[in-house]
Amino acid sequence: MTRAENSNGYPLTMAKERIVAQSAQERTSAPTAQSREADLDPQTLEIRPRTLRDYIGQRELVERLSIALEAAKLRKEAMEHVLLHGPPGLGKTTIAHVIAAEMGSRAYVTSGPALTKAGDLVGTLTKMEAHDVLFIDEIHRLPAAVEEYIYPAMEDRRIDFTLDSGMHARVVTIELKPFTLIGATTRAGLLTQALRSRFGISHHLEFYGHDDLVRILVRAAAILSVRAIDNDAFDAIAARSRGTPRIALRLLRRVRDFADVRAQGRADSDAVMAALRLEGIDDIGLDDLDRKYMRAVADIYGGGPVGLEAISATLAEDAGTIEDLVEPYLLQIGFLARTRQGRRLTKQGAESIGFELPAAATPPDQLF
Ligand code: ADP
Repeated sequence: MTRAENSNGYPLTMAKERIVAQSAQERTSAPTAQSREADLDPQTLEIRPRTLRDYIGQRELVERLSIALEAAKLRKEAMEHVLLHGPPGLGKTTIAHVIAAEMGSRAYVTSGPALTKAGDLVGTLTKMEAHDVLFIDEIHRLPAAVEEYIYPAMEDRRIDFTLDSGMHARVVTIELKPFTLIGATTRAGLLTQALRSRFGISHHLEFYGHDDLVRILVRAAAILSVRAIDNDAFDAIAARSRGTPRIALRLLRRVRDFADVRAQGRADSDAVMAALRLEGIDDIGLDDLDRKYMRAVADIYGGGPVGLEAISATLAEDAGTIEDLVEPYLLQIGFLARTRQGRRLTKQGAESIGFELPAAATPPDQLF
């Protein structure tokens, strides 16, 4: 994995806006791709909401954050440490930037896998000014040694590190300015209880509803100068976005390309349908990988129940990718159920691919 750094030596933000959820390979490349924030194209940066007012949806989270932000500002303190969990593309990184902007401070962005040893954080933590934000994406992938470093930094705003070794070893303590740690994870379950308990606010981001996705698209279409796009077109894109702003914005860009090249710039619903068909996305936003997943559970495992590892081996696809990018939405729309014995297709999921579930399907009391 390449590790991009800016001139100050900080690990830099992930160019997530470039990530598409279309192919398996592109999906897996998401968590480790890193590049300069400054490398993101200006429109992408402009689309990202800058303030809580611009942040669409996730109302409960926005309310919790606005109270915590106001309280912090009143008391002239740093904002609470925040843990955000939920599927990729729902706005966790965006929230970190919004919090920094609302506090009038800077956001430093890194990710769990980029921090390989305890010392990796010392430079950043000691350079941060009061009330700055440190965003750690994929915080569940933080090595144990780095995690232990973070505890005193979060709690007592200090870090201890050891100079020399053997009988000359001595521990040096560095005081830090009050800062806010924002951790993001797609797998809250993998976090240690010790780390989890050090966040003052912990919030699960939900998939977005249709109306919120339309609002996100309308705002982005204006920034991207998508011409002659009508309400039906927004509805059609939102319906295929799997409740995820990143996917909605990606589809909007594909529609814009299609309209510019094939439809004299008119992004009407015909152009939308044609563009999305080319992307291999069906009426409810499922793509090739989702369909392959459901077909494998149906055809090879009789509709389930089957374990994640078995599906992963069958599809030759990383189990983490499946767990992060395929299953959450299939569970959300009721096509898949998780039972103690493993994953199984629901009646609705089976019908969607024309598969007949065997009579002895898992009884509902085994669901959890
Ligand atoms: P995550 O960190 O959860 O993977 P990001 O914060 O990178 O997600 O968001 C993905 C994209 O979706 C970004 O381009 C961002 O601009 C957009 N986005 C996310 N949440 C919102 C929102 N609530 N309102 C408008 N745009 C959003």
